[in-house]
Amino acid sequence: MSLQEQIKSTIRDINDYPKAGIVFKDITPVLATPKLVKAIASELRAQFENEKIDAIAATEARGFIFGSILALELGCAFIPIRKKGKLPYATRSQEYQLEYGTASVEIHTDAVKPGARVLIHDDLLATGGTAGAAADLIKSFDGVVAGFSFIINLSFLPGEENLMQRYGVKPHYLV
Ligand code: IMP
Repeated sequence: MSLQEQIKSTIRDINDYPKAGIVFKDITPVLATPKLVKAIASELRAQFENEKIDAIAATEARGFIFGSILALELGCAFIPIRKKGKLPYATRSQEYQLEYGTASVEIHTDAVKPGARVLIHDDLLATGGTAGAAADLIKSFDGVVAGFSFIINLSFLPGEENLMQRYGVKPHYLV
């Protein structure tokens, strides 16, 4: 079985979570399969090892899992991007649109060095709102958005197209 097929068959669909009508993609069965985690880590490393990445910026909470693994694989820095009020040092925030209303994410003000090549990682790409907010934060410190990395892309939503249009980089995803 290909890596893609293994990931697809291991992800668990949860109907009506977090609310009615939504099918939630649950990656915890993947995390419970060490061989698969290792294979994903190798695949992501191969994908990005020649991209001169200085840091992985990942959004909480599931983005931290493979985001940290990838930072370790690439030997680069890890930058946590968190929901409002969770980071202890001085922060900058970025609002983004949800289906109804807005949300915001924050980054430490000393996290991005000007010119640093930052790869943005999350477990899943839906509309691209979260990853876009992360990218805006990186750019606001004159960092370079070197790419986007996801485990899953919900291809029936316009996230891929939105990120490509706004940042000029094609997002990478495994399934
Ligand atoms: P977006 O901002 O619309 O692209 O939504 C992506 C964000 O929502 C990511 O941080 C995901 O972790 C989370 N998310 C949305 N749907 C799912 C899902 O089905 N499984 C896991 N995470 C999800």
